Amino acid sequence: MKRSYFPRICVALALAFMMATFACGKSEQPSASSAEAKPAASAVATPAPAEVRTVAVNSAPKPDINGNHVMQYVKDVVAIGSRPVGSQGHAKVEQYILSHLKGVDVEQDKFTAQTPAGKFPVNNIIAKFPGRRDGIIVVAGHYDTNYPLPKAYVGANDGGSSTGLLLALADEFRGKERDGYSIWLVWTDAEEAFVNWTATDSLYGAKHLAQKWQQDGTAKKIKAFILVDMIGDADLDIQKETFSTPWLSDLVYQAASNLGYQSHFYQYKAGIEDDHLPFLNIGVPSVDIIDLDYGYNNVYHHTVQDTLDKLSPQSLAITGDVVLETIRLVDAR
Ligand SMILES: [Zn+2]
Repeated sequence: MKRSYFPRICVALALAFMMATFACGKSEQPSASSAEAKPAASAVATPAPAEVRTVAVNSAPKPDINGNHVMQYVKDVVAIGSRPVGSQGHAKVEQYILSHLKGVDVEQDKFTAQTPAGKFPVNNIIAKFPGRRDGIIVVAGHYDTNYPLPKAYVGANDGGSSTGLLLALADEFRGKERDGYSIWLVWTDAEEAFVNWTATDSLYGAKHLAQKWQQDGTAKKIKAFILVDMIGDADLDIQKETFSTPWLSDLVYQAASNLGYQSHFYQYKAGIEDDHLPFLNIGVPSVDIIDLDYGYNNVYHHTVQDTLDKLSPQSLAITGDVVLETIRLVDAR
């Protein structure tokens, strides 16, 4: 689960405004006890940035990820079933990811998380694709599904789409020489809460990895941390996530504009708690590419209705292409 703050105002009428948190909130939480600072609320839909910087464009072909290829990965992952930390499904998806990274430099960041539901083994999987330039661009997304939800919950979009897209990105980078920064793909684990989403009961894998990378000096080398989450919705509507680093957030929009996909980006803004927060907290430029508007009023989120039929190969391809174009723009900075 991700907590969303003030995602949109659906209607402008005063009466409707009184009902806004009921009618428009995407992810209201029963508990409001966590201590995160809330960003200033925006009462209007934010127009997309008007200015698009001109960056020297190299002659590389435009990114063109095959959405059906990504979708096949998502289908395979969803076929495993529910994948909460500690489950058989989780072990299977770990093996599935690793089996598709043969020949790649892979690191596993394993540790035991103390959660309100007990101790659990957590494993961030990191695939490294070296570049000639000194520095790292990270693309991350979680592969666990929500622990407290019923076994019928398969998290096609929430957990499935990010897992599948990262696997397809690995195929893009595998065996190719990179002139730009090194690319590290990270399948984060235990993003979801074990009981109720709070500042402490969430983002276990990302917190652990951020701390590790701060201690071993990796954090200083990271030029950009690009998170993808819930990016398969057939009705793709990526919010402008307001905790994200502004220049990197703008770069994602520029990437979308370069490819003609800007209508799917930043029609609304929302502050969303997700795996990018621990990296922002240690000073790594980070952006969350997320569509937390999944079904009318986010009705499919964290329900057994989060199934493959709600996704489209096109949305997966659009997000994948925008990630690749963002990488190209970071390389060109
Ligand atoms: Zn979730």
